Amino acid sequence: MLAQGLTRGTGGNVSVRSGDGVAISPSGVPYEDVTPETVPVVDLDGNRLRGDLKPSSETPMHAILYRSRDDVGGIVHTHSPYASTFASLNEPIPASHYLIAYVGTEIPVAGYEPPGTEALGGLAAEAMGEDCDAVLLKNHGVVAVGSTGADALEVAQMVEYCARIHYQAISVGEPEILPDDSVRDLRKMFTESYGQR
Ligand code: 13P
Ligand code: ZN
Repeated sequence: MLAQGLTRGTGGNVSVRSGDGVAISPSGVPYEDVTPETVPVVDLDGNRLRGDLKPSSETPMHAILYRSRDDVGGIVHTHSPYASTFASLNEPIPASHYLIAYVGTEIPVAGYEPPGTEALGGLAAEAMGEDCDAVLLKNHGVVAVGSTGADALEVAQMVEYCARIHYQAISVGEPEILPDDSVRDLRKMFTESYGQR
């Protein structure tokens, strides 16, 4: 996330689920200092099961997303700059680039609640629904989900890429937005037949 410019400092957090356990980044610890031994494990209600360090302050949001979506095995929360710009404008990112299909038909904005609250997790889960794999958190950042941690990271990268293209497109003209139907077809293609599938 740091190397790809998706966050800065100790911002953002990541988790992966295995059964009823969730390994989640420790709160406020520089990513370079995180080793497997320092990673706390929590249950699906966010209670700490293992580890000496306090789990991420966004544990309630991660836990709610895992509870609401069985298909989610990894979650990445970033403060990536272009996507966060739209989050601060309270503007969803539309399909100005076909790669949005990796994420959903558009990337919605969840209303504002303070970082680290159950309420923020609730709004994120509600805005994400079943068919979208990321949401913008108003005045804050991005939360992306995937079947694995690596998948969630790729979704977070696509969110930032699509945000940047949309930002650039509206800066110089008026982008043509792809219709929902075409994006849905692409989404199916990505999950069913793209690459070595
Ligand atoms: P943590 O360091 O507690 O994970 O918090 C970072 C963050 O991005 C809060 O929204
Ligand atoms: Zn954050």
